[in-house]
Amino acid sequence: MICLGFEGTAHTVGVGIATSEGEILANEKEVYQPDEGGIHPREAAQSHSDNVKEVLDKAVNKANIEPEDIDLISFSQGPGLGSCLRTAATSARALAVWLEVPIIGVNHCISHIEIGRFTENVNDPVTLYVSGGNTQVIAYDSSRYRIFGETLDVAIGNCLDTFARRVGIPHPGGPRLEELAKKSENLIDLPYSVKGMDLSFSGLLTEALRKYEKGASLEDLAYSIQENTFAALVEVTERAVAHTKKDEVMLVGGVAANQRLRQMLDLMSEEHDADFYVPPMEFCADNGAMIAWNGLLAYGAGKRQEIGETRIRQRWRTDEVRVPWRSD
Ligand code: AMP
Ligand code: MG
Repeated sequence: MICLGFEGTAHTVGVGIATSEGEILANEKEVYQPDEGGIHPREAAQSHSDNVKEVLDKAVNKANIEPEDIDLISFSQGPGLGSCLRTAATSARALAVWLEVPIIGVNHCISHIEIGRFTENVNDPVTLYVSGGNTQVIAYDSSRYRIFGETLDVAIGNCLDTFARRVGIPHPGGPRLEELAKKSENLIDLPYSVKGMDLSFSGLLTEALRKYEKGASLEDLAYSIQENTFAALVEVTERAVAHTKKDEVMLVGGVAANQRLRQMLDLMSEEHDADFYVPPMEFCADNGAMIAWNGLLAYGAGKRQEIGETRIRQRWRTDEVRVPWRSD
């Protein structure tokens, strides 16, 4: 069975094609880059609708299939920016109706986990999902992916990007901050907020900007922001590992590109005799292949949807989804 999946939760419009035998035939995308400032939802959606046809054509050509070969359409139903989700959902519905094949909406966060389990051959990990819009520590238990901890305000990627933008570094600032951080070892005192199993980054963001205005160097601040926020992320992940006694740890999402975060998680995993995994960045960042793969899993486990049930779900939480393709 061949599934074509549309990703469109934020800055990326992606089309992936996967088979139920476990082959990724194509994974094409186009990323919206704002002229200035952060992601503007309406402009991102406009960019997606300008690009989706080309991305779709590229994916179908790359997979070397005919549209008639497609058996199933899936799409990112949520969570994400409404205008972007709607654009991807509309494309998915149009194609499914035209091809007369079933359609399935999948949860974007769960797709990140499932593609990682698939590409890295991981069985049952504690996953740290860190991106521009999401920060969650997730592990499977009793038919669902449970959220063990999450940010109470901004996502870690958003925190890094917002700080960068306010000091004149264009979007996305995360990679540039990583480079700057390598030039310092001077830890500046910043708020460290782990609240129970949850995290908060907005106070640190405000304080880092205040210290910048008072003359602290960008290198020192980049280093201190990373050390501080990553330590908090690793602390919560570590407690989830200790609690669940799982012996696999996985890092996914765009911030997974960061070498320092990988190093810290690797060290923590080693101390708990757990294996540490990071999927290739092609699959860590937002992409269509993970949506296609999740569509196949859901369909294979019997999930069916009418077009009328494909309305987008901007705030669809990871733990609201039943996961029938996994057994306890
Ligand atoms: P996503 O939302 O999953 O596509 O990921 C995008 C986010 O990842 C943005 O917030 C980027 O700033 C962040 N990001 C990408 N590369 C790095 C890096 N090397 N270090 C920290 N953050 C990064
Ligand atoms: Mg994502």
